Amino acid sequence: MQYKRILLKLSGEALMGERQYGIDPKRLKVYAEEIKSVVDQGVQVAVVIGGGNIFRGLAGASNGMDRVQGDHMGMLATVINGLALQSALEDEGIQTRLQSAVMINEVAEPFIRRRALRHLEKGRVVIFGGGTGNPYFTTDSAAALRAIEINADVILKGTRVDGIYTADPEKDKDATKFDDITFKDVLQKGLKVMDTTAFTLSHENELPIVVFDMNKPGNLLKLVSGEKIGTKVNLS
Ligand code: UDP
Repeated sequence: MQYKRILLKLSGEALMGERQYGIDPKRLKVYAEEIKSVVDQGVQVAVVIGGGNIFRGLAGASNGMDRVQGDHMGMLATVINGLALQSALEDEGIQTRLQSAVMINEVAEPFIRRRALRHLEKGRVVIFGGGTGNPYFTTDSAAALRAIEINADVILKGTRVDGIYTADPEKDKDATKFDDITFKDVLQKGLKVMDTTAFTLSHENELPIVVFDMNKPGNLLKLVSGEKIGTKVNLS
């Protein structure tokens, strides 16, 4: 395996599958199976999950809601998704722990770095819910932060697009894909990989990012085994 400890970032929206809102149980099961395929190879897996399928603070703010209030709702949404993923992983026979950045002790452990590391060493999948625990951040930033804290080898950002393109491939048919790119080139070309805070945090802490299509079965295992899947953002 090329990577021994990974941080997988899944967006909340990805959990919707074909739906307009909420969680598609079929999609959840597929993701759990994909994660199992790498856990079975002895890879240590941490997951940060988004909440966009349920609530986004910015969307609340655009409808007149207080931004911080909306962000709190978004953070709780990520805990809901984390519970759903935990349940799907347990159905696959995988041991998991959900750690939340917001105190919600009856449903999730608090985020404690040393404890998270211990779980990973024991082969448990650790799901980080509640984002960073702070408003005005995103779960991409939470993913970068947690990945650095647990010394992950890489952030794997699972999306519905198979990598980083010269332009949005869903809008521009002439867009071409990069197999590899550097942090510097992403900035120079103004490409969108993660939000600026998350991207900067990864860059400054020398944490590579791979953007890949999580909806293609087998992709996660191939990537972790060292096959060229998606686009890797390298330090140089
Ligand atoms: N959020 C937050 N702080 C964080 C992470 C998330 O306030 O550290 C809130 C924010 O309102 C965000 C929502 O939770 O819109 C859901 O997260 P995100 O939009 O990152 O989810 P995704 O796009 O990955 O589904």
